Amino acid sequence: MSQPPKWTTSQGAPVSDVFATERATFDNSNHANNAPKVGPLLLQDFQLIDSLAHFDRERIPERVVHAKGAGAFGEFEVTDDITDVCAAKFLDTIGKKTRIFTRFSTVGGEKGSADSARDPRGFSTKFYTEEGNLDLVYNNTPIFFIRDPSKFPHFIHTQKRNPATNLKDANMFWDYLVNNQESIHQVMYLFSDRGTPASLRKMNGYSGHTYKWYNKKGEWLYVQVHFKSDLGVVNFNNEEAGKLAGEDPDYHTGDLFNAIERGEYPTWTCYIQTMTQEQAAKQPFSVFDLTKVWPHKDFPLRRFGKFTLNENPKNYFAEVEQAAFSPSHTIPSMQPSADPVLQSRLFSYPDTHRHRLGVNYQQIPVNCPVAPVFAPQIRDGAMTVNGNLGSTPNYKSSFCPFSTEAQIQTNSNTPEEVLAAHTEKFHWGGILDSKSYDFEQPRGLWKVLGKTPGQQRNLCHNVAVHVAAANHEVQDRVFEYFSKVYPEIGDQIRKEVLQLSPRGDSAARL
Ligand code: NDP
Repeated sequence: MSQPPKWTTSQGAPVSDVFATERATFDNSNHANNAPKVGPLLLQDFQLIDSLAHFDRERIPERVVHAKGAGAFGEFEVTDDITDVCAAKFLDTIGKKTRIFTRFSTVGGEKGSADSARDPRGFSTKFYTEEGNLDLVYNNTPIFFIRDPSKFPHFIHTQKRNPATNLKDANMFWDYLVNNQESIHQVMYLFSDRGTPASLRKMNGYSGHTYKWYNKKGEWLYVQVHFKSDLGVVNFNNEEAGKLAGEDPDYHTGDLFNAIERGEYPTWTCYIQTMTQEQAAKQPFSVFDLTKVWPHKDFPLRRFGKFTLNENPKNYFAEVEQAAFSPSHTIPSMQPSADPVLQSRLFSYPDTHRHRLGVNYQQIPVNCPVAPVFAPQIRDGAMTVNGNLGSTPNYKSSFCPFSTEAQIQTNSNTPEEVLAAHTEKFHWGGILDSKSYDFEQPRGLWKVLGKTPGQQRNLCHNVAVHVAAANHEVQDRVFEYFSKVYPEIGDQIRKEVLQLSPRGDSAARL
């Protein structure tokens, strides 16, 4: 058996008794024999004070969204050649492997909230590539509630807690959605059983946003990415998920960790859909509209890789809590499109990391690129722990010139492209000319649900049990909102809500 470690202070000085505290002693010669000799604590007790002071600072701000998460390391492998679409070096050879780290999360719940809550799931993967870190910051839904970034704080507030009561609030929740009806597609997806996955291992990941991928010739295509679980998509129904939230709120975290410990490594197959600019111009929706999917029949999936999660984190805080993903952590051949929600995320994610982890968050091992980093103007700041590039000049100088030879062309949007994209197909206030189209793809989803017995009924039930807690006015607007997809959906929801909370009984709706 190996020797137990010798305990020390945080500064490495030996400690003989970890529970001992330094105390004043008294001369008790004038007191009864059993009078205590020990007195008050001493300020000089660094071991105690350091330990307490560090404990007081153990928590860092939790993420405002995606606070509850679980993650694992793994490996991505190229299975098919897509070099005609993308020049990324990690994709250049079939069989090539790249280390990855994936973090799954719920969106709205706090760090201690239940894993099985109805919510979209974050599905973020960091690829430690030879060209720098590539973060694919995805969800388990191919769409989202908004297409205007200015709505994000409003929307998230309504899905969290009422500012007065600190309670989840069905009126706020549904009031926002019925007033912002581009949300309907994602709401239908969320209130189908896919809103309560049975396992993080058994759900898909989707880029949702449109990206631009470049090949070696500098040609680009619009791209959407799909990760499909090789274990299939498996969901809980509403009641199973609700029961588990009480009995085992960390169910998904345990399920992922224990499967990997057992050697049952989950895998996903990776696909792209591609679209040319000409095709994009002909779609009845904007490719920058995050509430829309690209129909499979028009834009078939093309396989390019597979990834496996096969290594649990050694330390949750160091590797999962401190993991910092951003869609702006990308590589030259994979660029964002002009999707305004994506553009706002490019700013917001690193901004959050600077707030939560500090300006040097990229030096934390889980975030540290394996590619060599040379950015000598990025210096100093709290928690600089990497040597800070020593005596290298901290500006572009004649002593440290910019080597043009070594640079790769960054294929970002030209200002003209961004402008064209925004003026031709997109309006900042929403896609005004496509509001009626907002209900088309939800109709497609209703038909997809109809292919599996019970799925349409479950969607209506899942909405009804939630909206039953809202007031009558909000309920009526929810019935109308779903009736715009198909009147039968609104009718089914209305029928069940009225059974659950008859209109004579207003107690639940005050
Ligand atoms: P398709 O019939 O070609 O594709 C439907 C897709 O829906 C399937 O391939 C599957 O994608 C997904 N799906 C299957 N069962 C369910 C379910 N119970 N709940 C949610 N999604 C399910 O049609 P379209 O491509 O024209 O899409 C029709 C609708 O399907 C869309 O409006 C969208 O809501 C939904 N969908 C479409 C996706 C896309 O990227 N086109 C992706 C996911 C859903 P998967 O294997 O990815 O789960």
